[in-house]
Amino acid sequence: MKKRLLIANRSEIAIRIIRSAHKLGIVAVVFQSDREPDALYLQYADEVIPAKDAGDEKPVFLNPEKIVKLALEHGIDMIHPGYGFLSENPDFALLCENNGINFIGPSPQLIRDMGLKTVAKSMAIKAGLPLVPGSDGPVKDAAAAKTFADSIGYPVILKASAGGGGRGMRIVEKPETIERQFKSASDEALAAFGNGDMFIEKYLQNPKHLEFQIMGDKHGNVIHLGERECSLQRKHQKIVEEAPSASVTEQMRKEMGEMAVRFAKAIGYYSAGTIEFIMDEDGSYYFMEMNTRIQVEHPVSEMITGVDLVDWQIRVALGEKLTITQNDIKLNGWAIECRVNTEDPQNRFSPQTGFIDKIQFPTGDHIRIETGVQSGAVVTPYFDSMIAKIIVHGTERQDAIEKTLNALENFTMIGLKTTVPFCRTVLRHPDFVDASYTTRWVDSVFTPEMLENEEEEMIGALAATIMYASEYLQLSSDIPSYKSDRLNVWVLNKRLNY
Ligand code: ADP
Ligand code: ADP
Ligand code: MG
Repeated sequence: MKKRLLIANRSEIAIRIIRSAHKLGIVAVVFQSDREPDALYLQYADEVIPAKDAGDEKPVFLNPEKIVKLALEHGIDMIHPGYGFLSENPDFALLCENNGINFIGPSPQLIRDMGLKTVAKSMAIKAGLPLVPGSDGPVKDAAAAKTFADSIGYPVILKASAGGGGRGMRIVEKPETIERQFKSASDEALAAFGNGDMFIEKYLQNPKHLEFQIMGDKHGNVIHLGERECSLQRKHQKIVEEAPSASVTEQMRKEMGEMAVRFAKAIGYYSAGTIEFIMDEDGSYYFMEMNTRIQVEHPVSEMITGVDLVDWQIRVALGEKLTITQNDIKLNGWAIECRVNTEDPQNRFSPQTGFIDKIQFPTGDHIRIETGVQSGAVVTPYFDSMIAKIIVHGTERQDAIEKTLNALENFTMIGLKTTVPFCRTVLRHPDFVDASYTTRWVDSVFTPEMLENEEEEMIGALAATIMYASEYLQLSSDIPSYKSDRLNVWVLNKRLNY
């Protein structure tokens, strides 16, 4: 009998997991949510369970009881949670286990421990990892927060112990505002995560975000697959990621990788996991948190190591021993991932919803596309704005940058604005080219004017191509009218200086 795997997720990651399931001869089952009944991932699955969640307060992906009930009705053996949603919810993992369903991830207890950053940090100290100077566990109240921050000096960052997805954080510049900020952050964390505990860290002014991918089995073996640099962030959320990092020397990679493995072994970790570090301008680095799931940016690690992380998540869940050792892991070349979010970078990245009239991805040997949409798809306001990822491999960093830029040039989307023009601006910028960018780059360097030039350049090139095509090949009547209309309106607006 073939194993039956249910994916408690949607979009590109659902398709990614289906691919691994099929490779391993496993039946892939997904939910159809009434919030997006025609989603692309449904076409890839072997079986679709209608979730009938239209009247529910939350989509099925956030409803543990409903997921497990339907899983049992459909004879499901294992559940892959993907990322986001319930992927780091220990109660969900436990509910699966208690119902005899194999949850693909580490043990529920470790998900619980790592889900509280303060607990994770205390376990990291025990394993000898360096920590950002900060409070020892949560601070009691606003007054205690002020006393502590006064003692270590400003700026500080208030962080929700149960926070995630870049939320639940406040940067405090001066003592006058800390008590007010503490209260609002704590209330917000309580509402968002059901836990208002806050802790304090020294705020590093211009840091880099570096993270190590690890993989462990249920027999005590753990390896690391090198680092990713994810410093290109907006509102603490990653947009462009690369592997390896130009800021990590061979020596550092060895040290940090060994630390990551030591930590994972000390806590008895199995499955895929990520140990996040923050690196200060002077090169010192500190443990920040651990993510107990597959990450959005996992493909860059796969591209440079040749290891399929989702395959291994499933195989480990089935009890298999890792057949790869640390010595087998050789980093090959360079990979860059650009997240395609339906957000308008011209307009404070405001979310875009509606129809995708047309979407066309670049193709090529060194290009990997992970997408959850196709032409004609609808982007709803119910879910995250990331619709696709463009991942590119190069022989070395400069080659990867050039190939990624090339791939981005060959991405077309009509209907909604995306972060692709922003990614192009980033990859062309000297701070990216020389790898000096930090997590502050978007806030301190980026301005929307940097995009406009790009758009002009692109439309200029498009206009020239269309003129050439229509004059030389006499195709003018074949050019879709809406395209030339758009172009005409644009040219007119430019002439009139709008
Ligand atoms: P990654 O390191 O994989 O990029 P992110 O922090 O971007 O991780 O989270 C992955 C996805 O999960 C994003 O879509 C993010 O919005 C969502 N997410 C992560 N944690 C939470 C959370 N606690 N609450 C809500 N959404 C979350
Ligand atoms: P999340 O669970 O939301 O991913 P993290 O603790 O991983 O939270 O922090 C997210 C991001 O916030 C980091 O990648 C970094 O950009 C920023 N950040 C976190 N802690 C600090 C700090 N002490 N100093 C400066 N920036 C920080
Ligand atoms: Mg994080």
